[in-house]
Amino acid sequence: MGKNTRRRRLAAGTLLTLALTTLTGAAVANNGDRSSSLERAIEGGKARNVILLIGDGMGDSEITIARNYTVGASGRLALDELPLTGQMTTYSVREDAPSKPDYTPESASTGTAWSTGVKTSDGRISTSPGSDEDLTTILELAERRGMATGNVSTAELTDATPAAPMSHVRLRGCQGPQNMSSCPQDRKSAGGPGSIAEQSVDKGVDVLLGGGKARYDQLVDGGPDAGKTVIESAVRQGYEVVTDRAQLLAAPSGKKLLGLFNAGNMSMEWTGLPAAKPASGPQRCLENGRPSNEPSLDEMTAKALELLASGKKSRRKGFFLQVESASIDKRDHASQPCEQIGETVNFDRAVRVALDFAAKNRDTLVVVTADHAHTSQIVEVNATVAGFGSLLTTDEGEVMQVSYGTGATPTSQGHTGSQVRVAAQGPQAANVVGLIDQTDLFRIMRRAIGAHEKDD
Ligand SMILES: [Zn+2]
Repeated sequence: MGKNTRRRRLAAGTLLTLALTTLTGAAVANNGDRSSSLERAIEGGKARNVILLIGDGMGDSEITIARNYTVGASGRLALDELPLTGQMTTYSVREDAPSKPDYTPESASTGTAWSTGVKTSDGRISTSPGSDEDLTTILELAERRGMATGNVSTAELTDATPAAPMSHVRLRGCQGPQNMSSCPQDRKSAGGPGSIAEQSVDKGVDVLLGGGKARYDQLVDGGPDAGKTVIESAVRQGYEVVTDRAQLLAAPSGKKLLGLFNAGNMSMEWTGLPAAKPASGPQRCLENGRPSNEPSLDEMTAKALELLASGKKSRRKGFFLQVESASIDKRDHASQPCEQIGETVNFDRAVRVALDFAAKNRDTLVVVTADHAHTSQIVEVNATVAGFGSLLTTDEGEVMQVSYGTGATPTSQGHTGSQVRVAAQGPQAANVVGLIDQTDLFRIMRRAIGAHEKDD
């Protein structure tokens, strides 16, 4: 081999390394040896702040579908950048026999698991299976320690995932004071703590952003605010209330903030054809779903971080923030691949905002995970599936078939029961590695904020 040939080869090799580095980050630059960067990522000790980001129903299929469509099969999303990754079991338990597993959980039982460290039965919000006792949540522990708290979702704020850390009711449907038929003992008029909406403002969560305004327009049915709407009760308790994107972006610090941007769930970022039989498409998704008066999830996340980090409480004690992209799950149920991908992309942008914050505030534990797995699958382009399919032309110009096959109709797809990814960085992050259970996540966050078992 002559010198010139060798030089050309080196140049080609360097170019290849550069190209791969651009695609997949530092790992390839070190020939894939990440030992030293992983060693640096293993930090014990206490976190000043905890940011928990949940893609509802975001199993490995949902992540891979969104990655393939947007950045390509060899690309990487923001949520792929967290250095320490494990898997998490998510099963729930039976109401009639709490020692027995229920293999296909939903967001209330799983929300209770990560919020309280206790497995409960499907539908319960931070109450114990069978015995209906209130279980202390990570948000409550953070409040007791003087930390600021925030809760953000693209669903109704009273939906199961955001409800779990900030309320206790018998069933997830008890969202507003006029929705209490399944939880009569929890009504304020019966001496209980009230609906999820009432509990969210009575708890004094510093930043509450999401949909579900119709629940907060209902009338409180007991206590000092009887006859007022939940929004009026929030104002009396010191909340600033905003209802559109411009008001959110302009909201000043120094006051608790309640942002309600839709009567129900917030709008989808993307739209497209639902899966069908035979398969719909090939289609390109339309990225035009969200009206301009509703903020995106990353805008809500950025504002929540700005307000929490600048507040008096947080300057002394740090904060706990939960951020949920809710409609990955909801559009999976409805066999809507474009809407599902759009909400996963939306989630990934919120993850980017959290990672940017953590880059400047290194004593922040960031956890990115899902609450349970879901139905969508990547199948062969020519496969005739038993369920419903859609052919999508990805950004890299290839066709991907996504199928939905866990329900009889396109609008009745069900959850699946497999383990989900849990990824983290910052203090205590190493504890997500390997296979953990969803209840372990509570204990990891509790350790991170310096709370202990006796505080529960
Ligand atoms: Zn669901």
